[in-house]
Amino acid sequence: MPADVYYKYLKMRGDDAIFICGSDQHGTPIELAAVKKGVEPRILADEMHHVVKSLFEKYECTFTHYGKTHTDENKEVVYSVFNELFNNGYILEKEDMQAYCNIDKRFLPDRFIQGTCPYCHKRSARGDQCDSCGRLLEPAQVLDPFCAVCGKSDISFRKVKSLALELDKLQNEVKEFVKNNQKHNWSRDSVNKTLSMIKEGLKPRDITRNMRWGFQVPLAGYEDAVFYVWFDAVLGYIGITKEWNAKRWRDYWQNEHTQLVQFLGKDNTIFHTIMWPAMLIGSRLGFVLPYTIKESQFLVSKTVKFSKSHGIGLNMKTALEIVDPDYWRFALMSMYPENADSEFTDKGLAEVVNAIMNDKIGNLAQRVLKLSKSNSFLVEDKIPVGDSPSVKKITKEYCDSFDRLQLKKAIGSVVRLADIGNGIMSSKEPWVLAKKAKDDERIEKQAKKTFSELIAITYAIGVLLYPFTPKASAALLSFFGVRAEPTLKMLEDKVRPDLDNEPKPIFQKMTNSEIEKLKKYA
Ligand SMILES: [Zn+2]
Ligand SMILES: [Zn+2]
Repeated sequence: MPADVYYKYLKMRGDDAIFICGSDQHGTPIELAAVKKGVEPRILADEMHHVVKSLFEKYECTFTHYGKTHTDENKEVVYSVFNELFNNGYILEKEDMQAYCNIDKRFLPDRFIQGTCPYCHKRSARGDQCDSCGRLLEPAQVLDPFCAVCGKSDISFRKVKSLALELDKLQNEVKEFVKNNQKHNWSRDSVNKTLSMIKEGLKPRDITRNMRWGFQVPLAGYEDAVFYVWFDAVLGYIGITKEWNAKRWRDYWQNEHTQLVQFLGKDNTIFHTIMWPAMLIGSRLGFVLPYTIKESQFLVSKTVKFSKSHGIGLNMKTALEIVDPDYWRFALMSMYPENADSEFTDKGLAEVVNAIMNDKIGNLAQRVLKLSKSNSFLVEDKIPVGDSPSVKKITKEYCDSFDRLQLKKAIGSVVRLADIGNGIMSSKEPWVLAKKAKDDERIEKQAKKTFSELIAITYAIGVLLYPFTPKASAALLSFFGVRAEPTLKMLEDKVRPDLDNEPKPIFQKMTNSEIEKLKKYA
């Protein structure tokens, strides 16, 4: 969502921006789920992809392309980067032991092994982690292991060949990259984490393992191996751009002027600040490196249970049963955990929707438009929005925040503009001015000025809301006869509200029954 908000801002500014994202389809969880369901992993992964893609659409995320990683295009990118890394001497060949089920006649990567946790002794351990105590595990540590596919314990450990990326050989160049690019608004947390990991010394990291679902390793002797999901998932940024446009992808990825801005959660940072740049650097293919890493902290909640993968709890789908996407977009961006974890509460959501969106912004717009309609003699023909000192000041503040990727501050600027409008409402009382203006020319002049200022503010709110609440932005701007996608240039326009139509509210309050619905997820 923050990436979508930022992208919409770049479009408003008139940049040549593309917004690329997608589903990372490989990995053991999907293969295991597919084996259990008795379907091809590809079918299941594509099903999930379509579910997620359509949910993003509902939330008004306007990707240039939302693709996926299991495509021919991505495979070509993965193979070419791998081949260059191999030829350039950054790939280490080694031997490991991997579990093998003698009944299913297949290798068992992490989650395919289950058993007893060596720490808490619960029967909830998997080859990568214990679900009960949360500790990370290696497959060989699991006690009384059994195969997650057949449930039997006929498991042996076999010697396998595997490949690792020699991050140690690329360490100095990665460090150089971080030192150069961190000034482009990286958070201190992401820089510290990265530099401290580099200081400890980077070690080779596995890029292959023996399982079925994934891109087969194009090297003799590795017929049973596929690339590790992390390796082809990050390259998916390039592969998905290629999937979008086979002709233009290089214009962005192999262009020294491109600024690659990446949005991610803090649990994903080192993949984007260390592994991914190391792969790009080591390939020597001239791909752009991340310009900005926009890391976010976690949104946590004590009152509501969020669900990520199990379908239970509050998730992207169930959230739509409570309020419409615009409300979630605005509320979540108001709570955006930009620098520290932030807390989500049901009261907090209702507070943002009712006190800020409805009372401050929506009511102001509604009142200004209604007053203008009933006092049309005070509404000038062409109100120059750019002449309003409040609009000018707030727009500058808003753009400065966006340019520094401080999105929470940017949404705060929109609220501040509404505060200014509400302040004018209560100090100038335009409805009183309107009454007096009828027989006093001096007051009429003053009233016209006040109406112009309020109308300019209302129009500007309509423009500035666009990255956060595109639907409400369109609804508000439609009262000014604007149907086009908003741009910052529109803040220089001369406008007049359409006084023929009855102004409708752009936001509604959350009802008690909507607030009650959230309790279901307590
Ligand atoms: Zn445990
Ligand atoms: Zn088995």
